[in-house]
Amino acid sequence: MNDHINKGNMLGKTGIAKAIGGFKPNYIRLQEPLEGPESVMYSFCTGCGNILEQTQKGVELLSADIDQQLPDNLSDVFFQTASCSCCDGTNKAVSIVEINLRG
Ligand SMILES: [Zn+2]
Repeated sequence: MNDHINKGNMLGKTGIAKAIGGFKPNYIRLQEPLEGPESVMYSFCTGCGNILEQTQKGVELLSADIDQQLPDNLSDVFFQTASCSCCDGTNKAVSIVEINLRG
């Protein structure tokens, strides 16, 4: 089951990152084109600072428990999570954040 592409692990790195927390998203980086053929949007983990690419399935899983609506254009937003599959965080908080470079 692969719901996302873990960029941090693409070079064969394994292991779980510590969810230190407090990471801030790089909005410029989150505007770059997605690389995975099935990727539909990014997610960013404030626990470990990892940026992941989410497939449609991953998006459905992440948006299942939140009230926020996804916009039609998924490239305008990313999921911000407090933990992810690459770190040992246990906080399941998820929100949809708008990428706004003009504001
Ligand atoms: Zn993480």
